[in-house]
Amino acid sequence: MDISVVVPLYNEAESLPELCSWISSVMNNNAFSYEIILVDDGSSDESWEVIEQLKTQNPAIVGIKFRRNYGKSAALNVGFEACQGNVVITMDADLQDSPDEIPELYRRITEEKFDLVSGWKQKRHDPLSKTIPTKLFNLVTRRMSGIYNLHDFNCGLKAYRKEVVKSIEVYGEMHRYIPVIAKWAGFKKIGEQVVEHRARKYGTTKFGFSRFINGFLDLLSIFFVGKFAKRPMHFFGTIGALSFLIGTIMALWIIIEKLYHITMHIRYTREVVDQPLFYIALVAIIVGFQLFLTGFIAELVSRNSPERNTYQIEKTV
Ligand code: UDP
Ligand code: MG
Repeated sequence: MDISVVVPLYNEAESLPELCSWISSVMNNNAFSYEIILVDDGSSDESWEVIEQLKTQNPAIVGIKFRRNYGKSAALNVGFEACQGNVVITMDADLQDSPDEIPELYRRITEEKFDLVSGWKQKRHDPLSKTIPTKLFNLVTRRMSGIYNLHDFNCGLKAYRKEVVKSIEVYGEMHRYIPVIAKWAGFKKIGEQVVEHRARKYGTTKFGFSRFINGFLDLLSIFFVGKFAKRPMHFFGTIGALSFLIGTIMALWIIIEKLYHITMHIRYTREVVDQPLFYIALVAIIVGFQLFLTGFIAELVSRNSPERNTYQIEKTV
């Protein structure tokens, strides 16, 4: 299969018929074999009924319904797990992204060998209250991630080589940082394509202002849960182990020296417990052991933390 289009959606019933027929006509005109994976993120409107209806008309449609609203990242993640195409396109359901961009995105992945091509909504059709925080967000993300060639990290329209989506995991609000996650997973060829951004045709945005706060918190958390997560733990563990080792050597040294003096019948050596060094060694051993255990426990916690995707799928078609 050439292309999988993954569409996360939450209460987008009105847009779906037009979206699917538009995607299908682009695919058919370009003779692509394809699937459209519609992930219903717990909609409370008629979205699921519309998906079931569309499926009867077009077998290339795959519907997945969440039991409740788990967020766009979880919806993308489940689509990434299910998809089969060699190139994966993600797209919002609200017709703000144009399916006409798909052939060029496909060409850049297959011919120019990009791992990921991210859409750049150069001319936005959004209110200022959204465009200004978005600009700020992109500036910070660009600096922090070192991906200087991207202007628009959070564009819903993106294209990926299949291996990329199969080897990354998106959760929380991480969908905003997929290029960063892909880079950390080792995919280096990340590009950008200017795409048309259309005004929302039906309904309203599904995110409130909290998106920006959550987004920035998640940026911090990817630094701690992602790349650098293990560093502080290894750091404490290593310091602890070193301190334990040095303390043990010091204490042993003092004890051996004492034993040596006893066996050689040398008199007038100090008692072990009279030496301040012995107490320093004891402290080093105790503190070292504690720190080592702290590092060890942190390591265990980080390996078993259930913070990731725990969504439940209710139905599929
Ligand atoms: N979306 C989703 N789960 C959510 C919120 C949004 O799957 O909890 C979908 C939504 O239906 C749309 C896409 O994510 O397909 C982008 O959302 P929206 O258009 O509301 O965001 P905006 O364009 O305002 O950034
Ligand atoms: Mg939108």
